[in-house]
Amino acid sequence: MSDPGSSPRLVASGPARVKVLLPLPFGEPYDYLAPGDRVPPPGAVVRVPLGPREVTGVVWDEPEGGDAAPVAAAKLKPVLEILDGLPALDDAFRRFLTVTARYYIRPLGDVLSMVTRRLGHARPPRPVTVYRATGETPKRMTPARERVLEAASGAPPMTAKDLAEIAGVGPSVVKGLAEQGALEAFERAADPPLAQPDPAARRPELNPDQKQAADALRRAVGQGFSVTLLEGVTGAGKTEVYCEAVAEALAAGHQVLVLLPEIALTQQIVGRFAERFGAAPVQWHSGLSDRDRRLAYRRIVTGEARIAVGARSALYLPFPDLGLIVVDEEHDTSYKQEDGLHYHARDMAVLRASILERPAVLVSATPSLETVKNVRDGRYAHVRLPQRYGVAELPAITLVDLREARPPPGRWISPPLEQAVRESLEAGEQALLFLNRRGYAPLTLCDACGFRLQCPHCTAWLVEHRYLGRLQCHHCGYETRKPKECPSCGAEDRLKACGPGVERLAEEAAALFPEARLALMTSDLVRGPEQAEKLIEAMNRGEVDLMIGTQIVAKGHNFPGLTTVGVVDADLGLEGGDLRAAERTHQLLHQVAGRAGRAEKPGRVLVQTHQSESPVLQALARHDTDAFVERELDSRRAAGMPPFGRLVALVLSAPEHAQARELAAMLARAVPGAGDSDIRVLGPAPAPIAVVRGRHRFRFLVSSRSGRALQPYVRQWLKDVKLPAAARLVIDVDPHSF
Ligand code: ADP
Ligand code: ZN
Repeated sequence: MSDPGSSPRLVASGPARVKVLLPLPFGEPYDYLAPGDRVPPPGAVVRVPLGPREVTGVVWDEPEGGDAAPVAAAKLKPVLEILDGLPALDDAFRRFLTVTARYYIRPLGDVLSMVTRRLGHARPPRPVTVYRATGETPKRMTPARERVLEAASGAPPMTAKDLAEIAGVGPSVVKGLAEQGALEAFERAADPPLAQPDPAARRPELNPDQKQAADALRRAVGQGFSVTLLEGVTGAGKTEVYCEAVAEALAAGHQVLVLLPEIALTQQIVGRFAERFGAAPVQWHSGLSDRDRRLAYRRIVTGEARIAVGARSALYLPFPDLGLIVVDEEHDTSYKQEDGLHYHARDMAVLRASILERPAVLVSATPSLETVKNVRDGRYAHVRLPQRYGVAELPAITLVDLREARPPPGRWISPPLEQAVRESLEAGEQALLFLNRRGYAPLTLCDACGFRLQCPHCTAWLVEHRYLGRLQCHHCGYETRKPKECPSCGAEDRLKACGPGVERLAEEAAALFPEARLALMTSDLVRGPEQAEKLIEAMNRGEVDLMIGTQIVAKGHNFPGLTTVGVVDADLGLEGGDLRAAERTHQLLHQVAGRAGRAEKPGRVLVQTHQSESPVLQALARHDTDAFVERELDSRRAAGMPPFGRLVALVLSAPEHAQARELAAMLARAVPGAGDSDIRVLGPAPAPIAVVRGRHRFRFLVSSRSGRALQPYVRQWLKDVKLPAAARLVIDVDPHSF
């Protein structure tokens, strides 16, 4: 699909020109001269000079519209080197980057920089010298030599350093043994071979609903671009079903990418994939060591990895032959990147699939309203799994109205919830308490003068973390010790924790259920997938009676012994004036509820709230996702809000308030006329969190009911705007919160 005119042109006089895109905030490639008599093709990775520097760039197609005045050939500098060892970025991938940049209103070079910083990973590591025992005895034996031979016998070949370390000797002992023929040295390529998945390794017996769904997905795999929503309650077997599509794509010889939202979740899924396909998939996420990340990268870009499971950034890896993209938990907010390039991995997965002319499958129990609308508009196909697999029933959900069932003062577990937990503990079953609030208490105040401890850099309260022994700002990470005296009135020992965090809830639970074995699962204490996995395994082995956690417990885990789930504060998130608050609350509560009763034992869920009449909670209690979706779609339609209209948020920030306000006013003066479009610009207004990291923030919202022409409009607006270096402008297309 290379388009004509994209190959480097020969300029009539002299050597060929190549257009090289650099990983810098430029919108277009720069012209260079081809080195010697070779003209690097589009996609090739090259080193070029840029002022006094050398930069790695990629030979690009001509920019569309190509209005840059051609630079006289005499002024051009030559490409320094063509990096033949690094795989070229193919047409479809370059096009993916181009469209990403256009959609998110970012310079193309910025988008490229997400890719180029990894290009070097493709270089194979240097081979290492390893040693194994030959069975021969050295002419002279010493105790040190004996220990080395002992360490080497029966073990896989090791480096001299490793061997010496195990034996507790110096590396010269190893060398000496090699010289005498007792050890044999050889070179080992550092990448061990990868076990390959087998599409038919362990095919599960599907029930009729699952079979129908799997057939639909399998058909899609054979047929170019399509998007299918696979929707079904938690425990319906969605994973088993989409694995059939994965198998189909594998059997057709393609690579498959499965995107997953939470790193803590990947380990369990990795295990399931390994079982289903007889070999573990390659993983891609931020928890990988540098070495593992490089290895994973090489395996993906060479095509050795047939299945990759990864966090959102895996989408921007140059897979050579991607045949299917699955986005599991497609509604999950962690697919939205909130710094650097503000992209949404689900939306970009669909885009990448369309460019590749391959299918995408979106999977969820509570699909995003964007996806629901695309289904209704006929753009996406829809496959449903209406029931839980096997005997597992959906849990009974009870709303506990805290206006009636009040917990004692300073406590958060109501009598009905306490009793439910007690019953399940007495029956030898497990319980889970969910509170989506990290730390010990969200607010610390002085009960002598009323002073509240606030972050010095942000418009935010400091959150007490008892395990870490610190007060912390959840916006900028600022930390401090809890002072003994009130910073305002000086009173001693009068700073009091206010409201519950998950740590405080654990304290309350420990007092109520002293015999229960408690585990606390929150991102502050669980760092990385291994730790998460340990906790999950302990839970699965029944070594934990009562799990207490934030949203990281809500996702994807199957706990067969878990029968009672308590949602401690369902009102968190229902308020807040955020457009997606209700949707998120619904999704999160549905997920938590989905943890209960996944095996033979029926589950129950108690949801504590001050608003039992809330339609979100009512729909949840009836397991009526459709009713919730219907209501929510109606109110968004009425307000012209996404998914019916489209938004772009622009946040301007500067270190001084006056400067930020002035620059915002200047931006406001540059707002172009909307012509006959339905585009409106709101603002500038102080951003909801007015100060973050010491920067004062003003926000504009650009909206359009039809959603058309938003990006060109914003580009037009910003075309001639020049901001001083101290100012920053963040553009967020399809913002999640604003
Ligand atoms: P979902 O992704 O919809 O939440 P899962 O795929 O995790 O559901 O399935 C829930 C549980 O039921 C898992 O333990 C899974 O292995 C099991 N399961 C689902 N379908 C089948 C099947 N056809 N055969 C055997 N086990 C199944
Ligand atoms: Zn802060």
